[in-house]
Order: sequence, then C-alpha cells, then structure tokens
Amino acid sequence: MVCQKPREIAARVLLKHAESRVFLEDLLARELTSATLKSVDRALVQELCYGVVRWQLALDWLIQKQARQPETSVQARVLLRLGLYQLFWLDRIPAHAAVNETVEAARTLELGPLGGFVNAMLRNYARNIDTTKAALQELKTKDPAVGWSHPKWWIERTAKRLSPGDLQALLAWNNQPADTFARLNRLKTDGGPLIARWRDEGVDYDFAKYDWTSENQIFRLRHHPSIERLKTFKDGWFYVQDPSTLLAVHLLAPRAGERVLDLCAAPGGKATLIADALDNDGEVIAAEPDARRRQRLTENCDRLGADVVVVAPNDPRTAGPFDAVLIDAPCSNTGVLRRRIDARWRLTPNDITQCHRIQVELLSTGLKRLGPQGRAVYSTCSLEPEENEQVVEEVLAKLPGFTVAKSQSLHPVRDKTDGAYVALIVPTSSAHR
Ligand code: SAM
Repeated sequence: MVCQKPREIAARVLLKHAESRVFLEDLLARELTSATLKSVDRALVQELCYGVVRWQLALDWLIQKQARQPETSVQARVLLRLGLYQLFWLDRIPAHAAVNETVEAARTLELGPLGGFVNAMLRNYARNIDTTKAALQELKTKDPAVGWSHPKWWIERTAKRLSPGDLQALLAWNNQPADTFARLNRLKTDGGPLIARWRDEGVDYDFAKYDWTSENQIFRLRHHPSIERLKTFKDGWFYVQDPSTLLAVHLLAPRAGERVLDLCAAPGGKATLIADALDNDGEVIAAEPDARRRQRLTENCDRLGADVVVVAPNDPRTAGPFDAVLIDAPCSNTGVLRRRIDARWRLTPNDITQCHRIQVELLSTGLKRLGPQGRAVYSTCSLEPEENEQVVEEVLAKLPGFTVAKSQSLHPVRDKTDGAYVALIVPTSSAHR
C-alpha cells in the first residue's frame, strides 16, 4: 500500500535510516518515487527527514530529559524526534497537529503501544513550548555540540581554527537547508532558451554570479517541480551543482583540443564541465574506481552530451601525459555538511587521517601523469587543513619539480557557498612562463 501522509512517510524513512547505513538522501528519494504527493507535502517530508537528522543530538537531549527509562527503543526515539522537531523547529505547524499526527503515524505504522508513550511525552512538551525553546537556546552556548547538534570532536578541532563567532556561524550554516543550483550546459543550449523552457515548466530561479563563473552560467532555483521529472533536465540542458564546484575547473582552464585527465570523476559534475569548456573538442579521460558510481558518471555524460568524455576504470588509458589533470579527491565532506545531511554522524577523526593518506596517493599519481608543460588542480570539499594544504605540502616535498601557482579556499559563511579548497600546481620549469 502506498502511504500518502507526510508524517508517515517521514517516519518510515527515518526508521529505515536509523536501522541501516544507507544515506538519508537515497532512502528519501526511493520513498518519494513510489509516493503520490502534492509538491507541498513532498517538501514537508523532506524538511522533516532532513531536520530530524540534522538536529538529532538536540532532539535526543530533549527525549533524555523526560524518558523514565534510560534506554528508549529506536522506533520510539524516531517518532519522538519527529514530533519534537515539529514542536520546536517548525513554527508554522500548530502544536496539536504536531502531536496528533505523529501519534497517528505511530498507529498507522503499527508500532503498537508506543503511541501512548509518544503521546504522553509530546503533550508534556507541548505544554512547555516557551521554557523549552529558551533551554534549547541556552544549550547552544553551554554545550555547543548538543545545542547545535554536531559531533563534539569535530567542534573541538574546528574551534582551534575559528573564532567563537565564526564557529557559531558555521554551525548555524550547517543546519540550514541548502539552496539548489543549476549549471547551464553549453554543450546543449544557451541561457535564453533554457530560461524560456523553465518558464513553461514552472521553474522559478535567480541569476547567480561568482568571480569564477560566467554570465548566465549558474542559477539558484527557488521553486521547481521535481527536478528529475523536468524535460530540460532529462534533455541535459543543465546539471545540479553548487557554485563552489565550478572553481576547480575554472582554475584548470581547459582549452579546446587538450587532453585532460579527471582522476576522481564520478558522478561527473566537473568532467562534464570540462567537456563544456573544451566545447567537446579534445579528450577527457574520466577515471573512477567504483563501478556503480561509474555507471552514474556515464549516464550524466550521455545526458549532457559530453561526447569527449571517456569513462574508464583506473587503467592504461589514464597513463598520460596529459595537458591538464584534475584531482578532485574523496574527502571528509566537512565543507558540505549542510548538503550531506547525515555525513556529520558518519564521520570519525580516523576518517580524516584515512582521507589524507588516499589524497596524498591520488595527488602524487595525478602529478606523475602531467606533461612537461601541463597543469594540475587538486580540490576537495573539506575544511580540514590535513586534507587540503597539508596534502599539497607533503606531496610537493616528496615530488620536487612542482610548485603551487595559486590556491584558494571557499568558506561557507564568508563566501556563501559550500566549502572548498583548490590548488593549481604546475611544473617549476613552466611556473614563470
Ligand atoms: N569529481 C566528481 C564530480 O565533480 O562530480 C566528484 C568526485 S568525488 C569528490 C571523489 C570520487 O573519487 C569518488 O567518486 C570516489 O569513488 C573516487 N575515488 C577515486 N580514487 C579513489 C580512491 N583511491 N579511494 C576512494 N575513492 C576514490
């Protein structure tokens, strides 16, 4: 049976999320594909799922304060989080609706006697909205990890680099819904025709411009029907990506006729942008070790008509020499915590060490594949120095003959984009050309 009520769908997604290692975004997409919902209800399901996972630690603090038993079952915790999130984070939902519909969801999902327990705690909190909101506000300074719902270890390490005000702004940023951006695919169309078709499709947008993007290249989507169902999307007229991801390709500056290696290519946001910059004249070897992600890369290249992209596992085709190499390394994603909803709960300090090791390997490999006059760009969406400057320093210390021509960091709050780091690396002999 297809369930049509937003809270029931949200509860089901959140239950599956709590019991599996599957990414929240994937679980939500699967559930929404099989549901028939008005767009306002689709938006509510997404807001509930994302909000509950973002604010999980603060929500659990509320649950802990009132639970009689120290251990609450996963099902009860998920429903309580869902109800409490509506009570304290969504002002537009009346308290009685938040309580009743969450209890109703427990009943429909056949969670048996849980309904009574959930009902009692939510009603109790519904009688104390103002004092509880004040306590939640106070928690942000008294215990930032819980108050801002982030891992304690990550806040502690980030606090060593940022002022208290900047740290607070970053934590707040990470808990905000992320804007959706569309990048024009010039291999298929121009800005004018795209905008004209969007008007018919009901896509509402703003023009967006950054130092590293050109006019009409990137648009902030304000309101739109489901993106995958848009004909302009299916026709490959645009790709969904944050403006920050265009910086690495801007710095690499691919020119028509060149051979380019994209060493970490899936799902293809940058590989297809390189093809766009080459105007499909030249060659892009897009290497990706993960077979499933390679499949998505191929689909995206086909959709966008990025004909010069050759999708490859890490095989002899990637041997070089190349005019330009992009190393868009796998990373901890700490610059995109706003977008990768559950990444903060998956991440461990050891992941940063592991990423550093892989990044050093990948950057070394990439540089060895450069031609004598070539250039490389190393990039991540991490805020951690160990994954950025320190990787470049370590590799260049081991591989003499290269130098950093330019590097740039994008900071979420300061630059109003996702976080990113990019470094342009060239052979020393060509540095002063
Ligand atoms: N450049 C892509 C884009 O713009 O769409 C995003 C790349 S993503 C940040 C990093 C990619 O590197 C992942 O698809 C991952 O599978 C791949 N990768 C390549 N070498 C890897 C390695 N040694 N270990 C883990 N992942 C690796």
